[in-house]
Amino acid sequence: MSDSANNSGLTLTSTSASTSTSPNALCFGSDLQAAGEPCHVDISAGGLSIQFPDSRAEVVPFTALSIEAGGFDHDQLVVKWARNGVGRTVYLKEPALIVSFRQFAPSELLVHLERTAESVRRARQGRRTFLLVAAGSVLALTLALWLGSDALVSLAVKRIPVEWEQAIGESARRDFLAGQTVVAEGPAVAAVKEITKRLTDQIQENPYKFAVTVVRSDVVNAFALPGGYVVVLTGLIKRAESPEEVAGVLGHELSHVLLRHGLERTVKTLGLVAVVSIFVGDQSGLVGLAKRLGIELVTLKFGREQETEADLYGLHLLHRARISPAGMIRFFERLSESDKLQVEMLSTHPMSAARAKWLKAEAVSLTRQEPEPFTFDWGAVQAGL
Ligand SMILES: [Zn+2]
Repeated sequence: MSDSANNSGLTLTSTSASTSTSPNALCFGSDLQAAGEPCHVDISAGGLSIQFPDSRAEVVPFTALSIEAGGFDHDQLVVKWARNGVGRTVYLKEPALIVSFRQFAPSELLVHLERTAESVRRARQGRRTFLLVAAGSVLALTLALWLGSDALVSLAVKRIPVEWEQAIGESARRDFLAGQTVVAEGPAVAAVKEITKRLTDQIQENPYKFAVTVVRSDVVNAFALPGGYVVVLTGLIKRAESPEEVAGVLGHELSHVLLRHGLERTVKTLGLVAVVSIFVGDQSGLVGLAKRLGIELVTLKFGREQETEADLYGLHLLHRARISPAGMIRFFERLSESDKLQVEMLSTHPMSAARAKWLKAEAVSLTRQEPEPFTFDWGAVQAGL
């Protein structure tokens, strides 16, 4: 360290001395080495003076030169001329050299130089854009693969605050109800509310305020939207043989909400932009994206794993609420027997025939208890529709 500091004056002198003749360009020609010979180029008003390491020197006037862009990245100034019938090419890369070339070269050559500079700029820009696009694509692909593995979606969904979820569910509910007839009161509404309350009272640490809407429709179905918006179609009430069957479906639907299955489907459907919105905390971004899904959000299919999870969770919810799980099991049995029920319920809840069997086995493991009956008369509820 101290040595080089002491010698700095000397080093500087020797550097400046060597700069004047040290190679700053590469020269090609049939009389030179095939790989090119390093040379020193000086530019002045008289033209190019080229000095080779073996002290040979050439001076070429500007009028003898032609120029173009070259090099691997098109970022070099390629200067060509002929001397005694021998073609010569010099590659200039040093910015200082290119600047002096611009300073001394006559205007007709400079016009060409401008064109060359433009193509160099474009080539550089293109290369930069290409690199950016390539890096972006690799990142997007990596994230997409991760997204496909569900890990990223689960991670993102966990970060969604309940208020965001409510905004998404509320918007989808509004879109769905816009074309529907809501049953605002009457025995069916009271019955559905009682069943829902029995179940939701059993949810520990419930962050949701469940809102149930009964909608007039012959379709046998019910669904729950993110944020706790539950919709029961009158077709389900009419076709259910007991309130316990409706309770079974509702237990399953509420479980989808509590386990955030709908939200997971939504984020998965919306893709990467939604995930990014969640991670950067952009509520309006995510809610805006989800709003674009509209009614489609109601018809998002759950995965088989989610169905099993909702079944299990729902069964335990029924049990805690002292509602007999026999209704849930019976309803699923009837689902596997009836084509009509299958088409409607299974459109959004894909299930296998083994499901009722599996639920039955699970129910056996529950502690035996006396069910608590509902306060309404099921026959009257159905007749009221
Ligand atoms: Zn389901």
